[in-house]
Amino acid sequence: MIITKSSAEIAIMRIAGSIVAAVLEELRKMIHPGVTTAELDAKAEQLTKKYHAIPAFKGYNGFPASLCASVNEEVVHGIPGNRTLKKGDIVGLDFGVVYKDFYADSAITVPVGEVTPEVQKLLKVTEESLYRGIAQARPGNRLYDISHAIQTMVESNGFSVVRDFVGHGIGRRMHESPQIPNFVGNDFNPKLRKGMTLAIEPMVNIGTYEVDVDLYDHWTVRTKDGKYSAHFEHTVAVTDDEPEILTLLRPELLPED
Ligand code: MG
Ligand code: MG
Repeated sequence: MIITKSSAEIAIMRIAGSIVAAVLEELRKMIHPGVTTAELDAKAEQLTKKYHAIPAFKGYNGFPASLCASVNEEVVHGIPGNRTLKKGDIVGLDFGVVYKDFYADSAITVPVGEVTPEVQKLLKVTEESLYRGIAQARPGNRLYDISHAIQTMVESNGFSVVRDFVGHGIGRRMHESPQIPNFVGNDFNPKLRKGMTLAIEPMVNIGTYEVDVDLYDHWTVRTKDGKYSAHFEHTVAVTDDEPEILTLLRPELLPED
């Protein structure tokens, strides 16, 4: 069952989303050669506390950190640690909070210094595919309109969309119905309605869409061929007309510290 939210509930999610955006913006500024992913995680946790929110991922199914930091061929769910970022890397930062019992979830992928033209294109296409997907999140459309827009953008640029991980409904739980694949092919294709809140998140690979989960940490997802992967995500509300991105930075909404 898809849980639609009232405007009062969406107002809380807008604050949660603003906190997520503020944290990601601070982390983006820290991305330089030499920074470790553990330092990014510590900053995320510190800022979340400052905004009176709770990190959504820490302890979720046993995940050990507040931030997912996925470098280069890592697709999602990278565990922060003492890995030092170097020039030419890309790092996916996936972050979520709980604020007054509501979740918000967003991700960006950031280049570390200069990256190759192919990797620049990967970042650009993945982010653009997110916005193409978001544009379809309107009443009367169906879920697959989102999936189709993302898949078309990605594949027409010669990249592939990950199959094994997908976007999701979000609200009082981080993962609610429906699953939002970045490709057409599941069989649940509901009509979109006002009040649905959706975490749309294309995961895009340069090479094969196939991925493996790390055998030892049971979290880190990597491309099977070792080629780079990018990830962008927003939490979005379906409204009467234009979709509203809830994970945008609205400084006036940030809780006082
Ligand atoms: Mg996320
Ligand atoms: Mg998500």
